[in-house]
Amino acid sequence: MIKILVTNDDGVTAPGLFALVEALREVGEVSVLAPDHNWSASGHVKTLHRPLRVKEVNLLDGSQALTSDGAPSDCVALAVLGLVDDLDLVVSGINPNANVGHDVTYSGTVTAAMEAVIWGLPGLAVSLDSPDNHLDPLDYSAAAEYARRVVELMLENKLPSETVLNLNVPALPLDDIKGLQVTRQGLRVYHDELLVRSDPRGVPYYWIGGDPPTGIPDQGTDFGALKAGFASLTPLNLDLTAVGVLEKIRELFSDHPGG
Ligand code: MN
Repeated sequence: MIKILVTNDDGVTAPGLFALVEALREVGEVSVLAPDHNWSASGHVKTLHRPLRVKEVNLLDGSQALTSDGAPSDCVALAVLGLVDDLDLVVSGINPNANVGHDVTYSGTVTAAMEAVIWGLPGLAVSLDSPDNHLDPLDYSAAAEYARRVVELMLENKLPSETVLNLNVPALPLDDIKGLQVTRQGLRVYHDELLVRSDPRGVPYYWIGGDPPTGIPDQGTDFGALKAGFASLTPLNLDLTAVGVLEKIRELFSDHPGG
């Protein structure tokens, strides 16, 4: 029996996590260890200076899950290092917003999948490209279906080590999605602004606000695929070496004895 860990960065009660759990139960035995609160945009965290607590909770259908006060990547480490035996694969999500371009460095969803790869397990991050300021509850069913298909392929085909897969799915009905494109990381455009306010004692505080990010919809990129109506699957490398500039940096910075 295939054993799958599901986690997320939105907290164990998030509807996207439950949609993912339900879809992946068709593939194997699903265990959940997810954060007890929202860690979105927390990046890759390893909690070293405080203890981590783990509690049992029930999902929407009454099934058992584990929750922790650690970050998403901590949850994966807790599971892999002892709390969940014999895992085959880790899936993180479904995040309610896309994780494309430089988002992947901020994303708790993606870094949870990266943590799995660090421990030698295949890792998949799943995100839904929902519209800004949507009012209705999100429909995760198409994203969950794409996640299930990708997981089945991941189990049939061994991925290179160091590779984490980042799946983004348009917020469209399943039949309206044009298919799956394998893409490269694209470019997000951030519209962050520093807001300065005063607290009740007159002391300034700062809030990073501004409009939601947009992106450059280049063909062949994650953002471009989503804007063209495709689901996007991007292989990310945990080895962040900028191979293309290695020689140039070597020329500029290497110490040449006698040179
Ligand atoms: Mn999130």
